[in-house]
Amino acid sequence: MNDETQTKEKKGEERFCSLCHRSERIAGKLVEIPGNMLVCNDCMQKSFDAMNRQLNHGGLQDLLRNVTNLGVIDLSNPGTFGQAKQVKHRSEEAKKPVLDLRKIPAPHKIKATLDEYVIGQEHAKKVMSVAVYNHYKRVAADAMDEIEIEKSNMLMIGPTGSGKTYLVKTLSRLLDVPLAIADATSLTEAGYIGDDIESVCSKLLAAADNDVDRAEHGIVFIDEIDKLAKKKNANQRDVSGEAVQQGLLKLLEGSEIEVPVGANSKNAMVPLTRMNTRNILFICGGAFPDLEDIIKERLNKQASIGFYADLKDKYDHDPHLLEKVNVEDLRKFGMIPEFLGRLPVIFTLSGLDEDMLVRILKEPRNAILRQYQKLLALDEVKLDFEDDALRLIAAKALEKDTGARALRAILEEYMLDIMYEIPKDDSIGQVIITKEYIEGTGAPRILLRGQDMFLPGN
Ligand code: ADP
Repeated sequence: MNDETQTKEKKGEERFCSLCHRSERIAGKLVEIPGNMLVCNDCMQKSFDAMNRQLNHGGLQDLLRNVTNLGVIDLSNPGTFGQAKQVKHRSEEAKKPVLDLRKIPAPHKIKATLDEYVIGQEHAKKVMSVAVYNHYKRVAADAMDEIEIEKSNMLMIGPTGSGKTYLVKTLSRLLDVPLAIADATSLTEAGYIGDDIESVCSKLLAAADNDVDRAEHGIVFIDEIDKLAKKKNANQRDVSGEAVQQGLLKLLEGSEIEVPVGANSKNAMVPLTRMNTRNILFICGGAFPDLEDIIKERLNKQASIGFYADLKDKYDHDPHLLEKVNVEDLRKFGMIPEFLGRLPVIFTLSGLDEDMLVRILKEPRNAILRQYQKLLALDEVKLDFEDDALRLIAAKALEKDTGARALRAILEEYMLDIMYEIPKDDSIGQVIITKEYIEGTGAPRILLRGQDMFLPGN
């Protein structure tokens, strides 16, 4: 055995067959052959069979081409071959807990950190903090006794741009766990065009730098989960959405799966590794359009006993309607009961109003305004915004109906000229974005260095 493969074995790193790329755990013991290659029994057998057939027609290169479909292999340069991605499995001695129970911040601390980044959504932040805390406590306490604590997978319901992805990203950063974000619409059943369901785990593995143990403690966020709803028309068999919901069940619950390393679907050329999803936190998110109608219908029905006519429009303008969602409504929307059963923590995010958008512009730790201010500060120029200007930007964003996502695009449009012009002139000391500039009826106010600096509100 040469030095490299010996060290790999010692380190507990997984080895792959150089021909079919299956891992040693799946393909069985690998045999080392000259040229620093590892070959499994199956491929060895195939090689011999092919050799018998082809011996008279060509040399070794032709033979290998037939066996592997890999094209010509440069045997003089073994480094080009058999270099499949390495998957790290920690050896038993090196295994120290990935999570330390004492290091998991308490729910109020998690929420306090979220508060620094995410504006509003108080209920969502609170629910998530508790659920995440419980989840990681459960993971860390794993083998303590036989009382199995249930997994805290979550379902977040909220309009687009209300901060669903942002909340999850902030959480994973705070907890320092790998995060994979997948789009439910791209997932398909195995065998169909699209990403296999297991691909969400290979994304997680990639986010964890191919460290299986770290990936097994990560977070998977599946966006647009509402697109997997069963079609309303019960006559037609709906193969896509419902089947993917079914397929996700075993992942959500926790099971041992084979994931392709570095690819979205399994095929003969992609190495596979095993991963357990038991401790992975799954968070599903979606906008669930028209869910409010379903909730309204249910509430109206409940209230209708006796005096339906009076209460018919009671919920028509209720801004908190979505918060009243229950599992039954989601089932009616088209999510299958088994799927909902595996997402015990269900909560909603509210749509953003103008006030919240203004706050999002300036308050979070990495607020967009602060980012521009920092950029200009590097040129020693102070940047300020009139309150009315911010309000107008928020109003424009609201019109676009894409939540906070529109803010950056709008602001970028106005800041482009400023960022282009300011560095030209060293004498400029302060720029104030006025309401008139946003309206298109005036220019930003520019103050030269040495002039009295304008302070908003003065
Ligand atoms: P979605 O709910 O569609 O997943 P995102 O989380 O992608 O929305 O939000 C888009 C962007 O809007 C985020 O990157 C973030 O900068 C900003 N954003 C959205 N909601 C908030 C919020 N409540 N507080 C601060 N920023 C927010």
